[in-house]
Amino acid sequence: MSVTERQIRDALAEVATPRGVPLTQASALSEIAIADGKVYFSINVDAAEAKAWEGVRTQAEAAARTVPGVSVAMVVLTAERRAAAPAQPRGRGGAGPGVPNVAAHRPPPHGRGAGLPKQSDIPGVAAIIAVASGKGGVGKSTTAINLALGLRDLGLRVGLLDADIYGPSMPRLTGIHDKPKLNDNKKMVPLVKFGLSIMSIGFLVEEETAMIWRGPMVMSAVTQMLREVAWGELDVLVVDMPPGTGDAQLTLAQEVPLKGAVIVSTPQDLSLIDARRGLAMFRKVNVPVLGIVENMSYFQCPECGTRSDIFGHGGARHEAERLGVPFLGEIPLHMAIRANSDAGTPVVESEPDGPHAAIYREIGGKIRDQLRGVIAAA
Ligand code: ADP
Repeated sequence: MSVTERQIRDALAEVATPRGVPLTQASALSEIAIADGKVYFSINVDAAEAKAWEGVRTQAEAAARTVPGVSVAMVVLTAERRAAAPAQPRGRGGAGPGVPNVAAHRPPPHGRGAGLPKQSDIPGVAAIIAVASGKGGVGKSTTAINLALGLRDLGLRVGLLDADIYGPSMPRLTGIHDKPKLNDNKKMVPLVKFGLSIMSIGFLVEEETAMIWRGPMVMSAVTQMLREVAWGELDVLVVDMPPGTGDAQLTLAQEVPLKGAVIVSTPQDLSLIDARRGLAMFRKVNVPVLGIVENMSYFQCPECGTRSDIFGHGGARHEAERLGVPFLGEIPLHMAIRANSDAGTPVVESEPDGPHAAIYREIGGKIRDQLRGVIAAA
């Protein structure tokens, strides 16, 4: 049964707001995106009012779910900080009237150090680390999941948050097609596979729906996935970031309580320039860069095992040395990595005794060593 916007609006008309009028008349609703029984929208309010509206958000979600045919409803609160950003340029989303303003969420020039309250940690999670890349297609998500599995193999309790809102890949990489359930406290329960607790926006909405989200919506959705998920006790939560170094990424880097970041790059010059931007982004918000991983570093013939440095291998190692950040390791371009990842069985899981799994575990070890104090303290 196809769900119409009219039906959703009728359900939302029953939700009262602190402004004393129904939600549909409060000038706070974004466009309503409906795809395949999944409903997504945001409620845009002033930052000062955000607390008072949290109940409205949960009621709106519940109301949308009562509409026959709705399987998932996700509603986020986007708080605009109107007073804070008088003459700033608009963000890349090209926001029009009534649409949340990306620039309003842009961090101050000096990042976290500039008097912003530090984001609170996630109870039970010792260390959150980002896996980032300056551009798409360098193997960031493949690295994120295999690294998470490598850390698992070292005996750590590991979660994986797919925050790549523009192209969530965890459904493909894990083969998970279920939806997270809510527990008694109304928190989403992450899906568990390969011993990892996994959450992805791809479990909740279609990829195309996420593509149209603007900066503040991305942030809200990620915050919800971070804070409204029952992660349990974890040593490390690996966050697969959206590729690039734009406003949304910078805001995420700032607002997620990160203990460190890993940057994935290929050896080509262009990708390295992007990696440098990534590095600069994390430095700007005072997140320590744990190191650079060179992915697709060299080609390894699946037949004879011969290695060819087709991309002029070694660029990321030199770059890391030049920039004074650790070089974490080189991952070859290999069919086994691609075929296994794309089939939902990442190589560390499917070939645990193979050479690739060993590389990911070694990289995991270097990261664990850097986080040791944090993990031990927890
Ligand atoms: P990103 O997250 O940076 O966009 P993905 O992790 O989705 O990149 O990888 C892009 C494609 O490259 C996928 O098809 C993936 O299987 C493949 N890939 C990634 N790393 C490797 C590798 N080391 N060897 C072979 N294929 C790889």
